[in-house]
Amino acid sequence: MLHIPTRQQNGSVRNRIYRCLYEAERPCTRQALARKCQISMPTLYQNLSELMEEGLVCDSGAARSTGGRKAMRLDIAAEARFAVGISITAELIRLAAVDLRLRELAYREIPCEGKAAQVLTEPGQLAAALEQFLDENGLSQEKLLGVGITVPAIVAPTCDRVIFAPTLHIKDVSLTERMGEIPYPAYVDNDACCSGFAEWYIRHDLKDMAYLSLESGVGGVLILGGVSFDGDHRRSGEFGHICIEPGGLRCNCGQRGCLEAYCSARRVTDELGLTLEEFFGRVEAHDPACETLWYDMLRHLAIGISNIHTAIDCDVVLGGWVSEYLPPYLQALKRYVMDSNPFAEDAEFVHLSTVRRHIAPMGAALNFVLEFVDQV
Ligand SMILES: [Zn+2]
Repeated sequence: MLHIPTRQQNGSVRNRIYRCLYEAERPCTRQALARKCQISMPTLYQNLSELMEEGLVCDSGAARSTGGRKAMRLDIAAEARFAVGISITAELIRLAAVDLRLRELAYREIPCEGKAAQVLTEPGQLAAALEQFLDENGLSQEKLLGVGITVPAIVAPTCDRVIFAPTLHIKDVSLTERMGEIPYPAYVDNDACCSGFAEWYIRHDLKDMAYLSLESGVGGVLILGGVSFDGDHRRSGEFGHICIEPGGLRCNCGQRGCLEAYCSARRVTDELGLTLEEFFGRVEAHDPACETLWYDMLRHLAIGISNIHTAIDCDVVLGGWVSEYLPPYLQALKRYVMDSNPFAEDAEFVHLSTVRRHIAPMGAALNFVLEFVDQV
C-alpha cells in the first residue's frame, strides 16, 4: 500500500474510488472496489463510467477465474498525466518526466560546465531546455501537470526566490521572471527537501527521518510524519553546514570544518581531480591515496550522522550520487557511527536511499502527482 500523507483532498465519492485504485497494490475488480470504498454497485458504476470516459481509469485484464465469467480488473491510467522535475546542480541540469505511478517516461542530463547559475539568472534558458525536452520525447503539453525545479539552495517560503546557494555561488536571486517564462504550473524548492520527501514517500517504512543528500554539496531535510520540518527560516536540515572539524577544511558557505567540506563529491574532484567513478574504482583497487581520502570522508560522515541522531533521535537516510557507491562500505560507516555515538545501541538507524537515481527531479515532480490524485 502506498503511503500518502494527509493533504487537502476533495472528499468526493469519485475521488475515493480513484484513490482506492491508486493506493491498491494491484488492479482490483469492481466488486472489491465497491467493498473497499463502502459504496453501492450503482454508485460505483456511475462514477466509474465518468472516470473511464475521461481516460483516468482503465480495464487492466481479467482477474483469475473462480468459475463462470472472468471479472475484469481496474487500474488507474498511469499515463493519463505526467509531471516534470528539473534538478539544477553546479555540474548538471537533470530533467525527468514521470507518470502518475512515478515511472520514468524520459530523462535527460545537460552538462553545465560551471554555468548552472546562468540558467537561473539569464532569460529563456530554462524554459527552452524544458520545451526541447518535451519535444524530443514526444510528451504532450496537454497532459503535463506541472514542473518542479530543485536547486541546492535555501529557497524563500514563497518558492520563487533563492536566498543562498553556496555551490552555485548565488545569493538573493529572484526567480519570478524564470517562473513566468514557463507556461505551466511551476515552483522551485530545495533539492534535498524534494529528494527526502520522495524517499519517505516511496519507502513507506519510516515515520520520521533525517535525509542527508550527498552530492557536489551536502544537503538534507527533516521529515516528521510525512511533512518536512522547515524551521523558522526554512533552514532546517542544512546538515551540510554543521561543523564536524573546527578550523578544518574551507566550505562553500565561507565557514571551516563543515560536513559538506569533508563529505561532498566535490572534495574528491578538488583533492584528486577524479570523477566519482574513477575514484571508487581506485578505492576498490586499494590505491593508497584514494583509500586514505575515502576513509577520512567516511569517518567525518559518521560524526555528522551521529550528531544528527543525537539531536533528533530518528532514522538517518543517505541519498544523492555519493550514496550510490556506499553499499560496500555501509558496515564500516556504521562502525564509525557507533564509535562516535554514546547513546545508540547499534547503528541500524542508518539507511541507504532506496531510490538512488534521479530522485531530486522525481521528488520535484511528485508534488504535482499527489496534488492531482487528491483533486480527481
Ligand atoms: Zn559550510
